[in-house]
Formats: sequence, structure tokens, C-alpha cells
Amino acid sequence: MQIKEQIEALRQELREHNHNYYVLDNPTISDYEFDIKLKELQALEAQYPEFYDASSPTLRVGGAVTKNFETVVHNERMYSLDNSYSKEDLEDWEKRMQRILGGTQVEFVCELKYDGASISITYEEGKLVRAVTRGDGFQGDDVTTNVKTIKSVPLQLKGDYPSKFDIRGEIVLPFEGFAQMNAERVENGEDPYMNPRNTASGSLKLQDSAAVAQRPLDCLLYSIVGQDTGIASQWQMLEKAREWGFKVPEVAKLCRSTDEVMAFVNQWDSQRHDLPYETDGVVVKVNSIQHQEELGFTSKSPRWAMAYKFKAEQVSTLLNEITYQVGRTGSITPVANLEPVLLAGTTVKRASLHNADQIAKFDIREGDTVFVEKGGEIIPKIVGVDFTKRPKDSKPTEYITHCPECHEELVRTEGDAKHYCVNYYGCPPQITGRIQHFISRKAMDIEGLGSETVELLYKEGLIENYADLYTLTKEQVLPLERMAEKSAENLVKGVADSVKIPFERVLFALGIRFVGETVAKKLARAYKNIDALMEASVESLVSVDEIGERIANSVVEFFSNEANREIIDRLKAYGLQFSLSEEQLENQTDKLKGLTIVVSGVFETVSRDELKKIIEANGGKVGSSISSKTAYLVAGDKMGPSKRTKAESLNVPIVTEGEFLSMVQ
Ligand code: AMP
Ligand code: ZN
Repeated sequence: MQIKEQIEALRQELREHNHNYYVLDNPTISDYEFDIKLKELQALEAQYPEFYDASSPTLRVGGAVTKNFETVVHNERMYSLDNSYSKEDLEDWEKRMQRILGGTQVEFVCELKYDGASISITYEEGKLVRAVTRGDGFQGDDVTTNVKTIKSVPLQLKGDYPSKFDIRGEIVLPFEGFAQMNAERVENGEDPYMNPRNTASGSLKLQDSAAVAQRPLDCLLYSIVGQDTGIASQWQMLEKAREWGFKVPEVAKLCRSTDEVMAFVNQWDSQRHDLPYETDGVVVKVNSIQHQEELGFTSKSPRWAMAYKFKAEQVSTLLNEITYQVGRTGSITPVANLEPVLLAGTTVKRASLHNADQIAKFDIREGDTVFVEKGGEIIPKIVGVDFTKRPKDSKPTEYITHCPECHEELVRTEGDAKHYCVNYYGCPPQITGRIQHFISRKAMDIEGLGSETVELLYKEGLIENYADLYTLTKEQVLPLERMAEKSAENLVKGVADSVKIPFERVLFALGIRFVGETVAKKLARAYKNIDALMEASVESLVSVDEIGERIANSVVEFFSNEANREIIDRLKAYGLQFSLSEEQLENQTDKLKGLTIVVSGVFETVSRDELKKIIEANGGKVGSSISSKTAYLVAGDKMGPSKRTKAESLNVPIVTEGEFLSMVQ
């Protein structure tokens, strides 16, 4: 087989598997087999860049960075929807339409109203060319590179698609992925995101498309607009879009009367809680496109469609007590302890009150009967107080002034909604929280030691900080509850083994506020060892790529603390890794700092991937396309002539593989 055909066949096969997995939810090969094929394609594409294709399945991982999203005028306006809340509203709407249509009876298509970020995607000749946010309805932001990373969005269509059209839909973040993202944020000492919808639309505006690729976004599509699509009805539109490879939810119904519409609404008002993503209503659309055209639009919305909003499920219950939780970073979260009540299919006992302002805003008090709602948020929230039921002797809530765990006075800084306990060394949940973070999987990954054991060890006075872990002996831990000979041995061995964990993870494990995994990697790269980092000033830190003032201040504060320095000295003595390894160092310089370099073509002494690694190891950035900001184009064999022309027209220096390698030597 010719190379070109081989590449095409692989792409076609991988597209099919992507479709089975992400759209049909019905994979036919294992993840492992998929990865092997993907790697095979990647290798071929790297070797034969002349067969580049912007819709290749290998481009799903992202990488391109957008500094400013370009504003794009929509091919056709993206309208809002009118709202209705009752059967009467729907019947009035039906009558209005019948007047315009001269008494003709209309058919309806009911779909769910997905609660995410609306998107309009343009396809030309079966290829995805552009994705634009709704914006103000007339124009939005070009977020193509980010949308291309969403696996259920086809880059290449199949079947008898029209040559040019826009398809519209909603980008959503399913509950499960949202919960997982939040768990990671909490682990990194960051506040969790509030709800999936805002997180989905925020994701579309991330500058780094590789970060978007990491997020478990999905895209549900429901409407095709364009000339000559040959589509006669909304129902047919849904079917066609499915055929062409789009993810169109199966939940939809063709209805002949408002009674049937109401049956659909009532059914899904309760069943929607079983769906993996958030919905907030039903969208009812006139089925015939010809009818739609006759009905047209008002200044805001189509006359042929109507949203029926579900009522956010709300219950009232008694607030027994307000308690306060102390996080690893000392942040205080007030929690409403409720009389258990059934809401949207689950029993609710607690609701977050977020901070002092929230409590003051609603004047929430212990003993109040409160309204609890489950909206887009996973954790139910209190949306108000039933003042008619407030007890006569009720007293306003006085927010705590001292830490519930260690009794230190709380601090609240300007502009921060939260109170903090700053008793870093004496506050038990902060102490154990830091040690639990230290041993966690992405940090030191200490086997044989879990969160509960950390609490026990602390309670028994055996550890007070994570350095103490390294002095623990088997004899000391053996008397602990549920500790056996074997588990005690495993614990001590797990701790001892962790001295091999590389510097960047040790840095993350220290639990410096705002220093998550990625930041830790960046700092390790920039400073190479802990001594240099400990001496770094705020000015020096903010000059590191993507390190802002907030992080810089936090780092400086951490290392200016004598006790932290002592702990680090001890950890050094126990043999933990506090500098990049020989191998990491050997290949690492700052020679290309601040430079964006594009590589293209086939190379002789090193592969394209190796070249990219060399660029990054020397502090440079790998660019995906040539622009005026490109510092160099490293040109290999068989580089496309258009790249050369572009580089020349922008005065981007073109260097050979040999010239480049001697630059970094
Ligand atoms: P609104 O923003 O409340 O006026 O509602 C209009 C928005 O609902 C549209 O811009 C779409 O993004 C969104 N929507 C969600 N699901 C659907 C659907 N099945 N059909 C049409 N619009 C939908
Ligand atoms: Zn405290």
C-alpha cells in the first residue's frame, strides 16, 4: 500500500472508533488497541508531514495556544428562545401560530434544553472549519482550536452532507467529569468550581488548547442552518445530523398536540435526573421547516420555538445547626446541617453556605426553615428563608471569630470572601491536611499509608509534620489501631521508598498554596533545585512563564518561614530529591527562553518529537504554525513550500537541523 493510502486508512479507522466511543457510546476495540493505532498514525504523520490534514484524529490532543480570541460574525444570527411555564402558555402559543398559518395544525418536536455553552460550528466540504461561541447572538468568539479537542465533535463528516452549513448545539460538562475536576482542585488546595455550565463556557476560553483537551467536555447538537441543506423538518434534521456523525441526543419526540408535549415535559421533569449532564427544560419546535419559515422571527427569538423551563426542584426543611469546616489551607466553610429531606432523588442533610456574606445576604439563622434547591450545582444550596416559620426567639447568626478546631482568631483579607485560620502550625485539620496532601497519589504517592492513619499518627503524637514520617519506626506504629505486623512494615517501607520521587513532585507535595502540579513542574524547570527557588524574589518568580504575582507571593511567603526551612533541611537529610536529576539537567538550558520555534519536515539525526523535546528542555516553546512571533523555523527535508514562503514573507529565520542543534549545544 502507498504511504498516503495507509495514512488515510488509519485516519478513517480511528475516526470510526472515535465515533463509536464518543458519539454512540459503544466502543468496538479496547483503549489499548486504539492507542497503538493512534501512535502508529502519529509516527507516520511525523515521518510524512506532506500528508498533513487538519482533520486528522491525531490533532485531538490540542497544543495550539490562543492569546486573543478573534471576533467572528455569525453566518446567521443565534437567537434566544421565548419561555413558557404552563400548558396554557403553550396553548396560547399554538393559537398565535395558527392565526399566522391560516389555521393549519402544526406538529411539534420536543427536545431537552441542555444547560451548557452554546456553540455554532461551520462545516465546509465535510470538514470542520470554524467554531464560534454565541456571544451577543450576532457575533461571537472564534474558539475553533479548543472545540476541535472535544472528541465527540467530528472533524470529518460522513455520508451525504451538504457542502456548507452551520450546526448548533451546546457544549456541556457531564456531572461525573465535573466532580472529578473539582476533586482535583480541592486536592491542590484550590476552591472548587461552582457549576458545570460556567465551567464549560470557561473551558472554551482557555488559552491553552491542550488544557481544554484534558477536560471531559461533550458537545450535543440539535440544529442545522444553511442554504440548500435539503432538510424538510426538524425531525429529519436530527436524523440527518446523526447520520453525518454528530452527537444528537436520542431523547426527542415528535408530538401532534400540546397534550403530547406536556406528557413529554412531565416525564422528563423527573427522568432528567438520571441523565449524565444538566438540563433545565424542554425546547418545543415546530416540525415543518416550511412552517418555520412562514412564522419567522421576532426581534429576539423564533416564533416557531418555545422553551418550557423546568422548575428548579426546591424543598423546605429545618436548619438545625451551622457548623464550620477548616480546610488544608485554613479556609473556613460554613455548612448548614439540615433535617434530612428528599430532593431530586437524593436525601440531603447538608448544604454549603459558602461564606459569611452568603449567610448575611439571606439572613440565615439556626432554627430557620430554609428553601433548598438543586440547580446546576452538585451540592445543594440554600436559596432563601421561610420567614413565616422563623421562631420568635430567633437570633441573627454571628459568624465565628475564632477557629472551631484550634481557637485561633480568624483573618479575612480585603477582597477575599473567605475567613482563614492562620494558625498554620497549631491547627489540627491544617496539619493533617498538609500531611495527607504530601502522601497523596500525585504527590509522594506513599504506599501503605492512608488519610485515616495520618490522623491516628497525629493523634498519638507520633507526627506533627510530613518530615516526621521519615523517622517513624515499625515499633512505633505497631500499637496503632488496626495495625498489624505486615501493614506496619509496609508503611515504613512506603515512606522509605518515596525518597526516589522526582523533584517536581516533591515540590508539589510541600503543599505551597497555589502551587499545583503544573506550577510545580514549571518552577522545578526554571530553578532546577530547591536552594535557588528558596532564594527567588517575587520579581524573579513572575518572570517565569505563567507564574503570576499571587503564586509568586505565596512561594516567597512559604520559604521565608523558618519552620518550613527547617522541615526542608530535614527532608534533604532523609535523602528526598530536591534538584532535577543529572539526566534532566544535562539536557536543560535557558538558551531558547522566550522563543517560539516551529519545526517542519523530516530530520536526519533526531526525530521531530526529539526536536520538540530539545526545544522545551532549553526553555523554548514549540509553535504549531508560523506567525510574526515565531523566532525560528527549523526546516527539515520535504518541508512544504507554503511554510517556507510564509516564513520568508514574515522574515522568520529558517535554520537547518544542524544549525539548530549547534545553537543549543
Ligand atoms: P435562552 O438562552 O434561555 O434564551 O435559551 C436559548 C438557548 O438554549 C439557545 O441559545 C441554546 O444555546 C440553548 N438550547 C439548549 N438546548 C437546546 C435545544 N434542544 N434546542 C435549541 N436551543 C437549545
Ligand atoms: Zn485553626
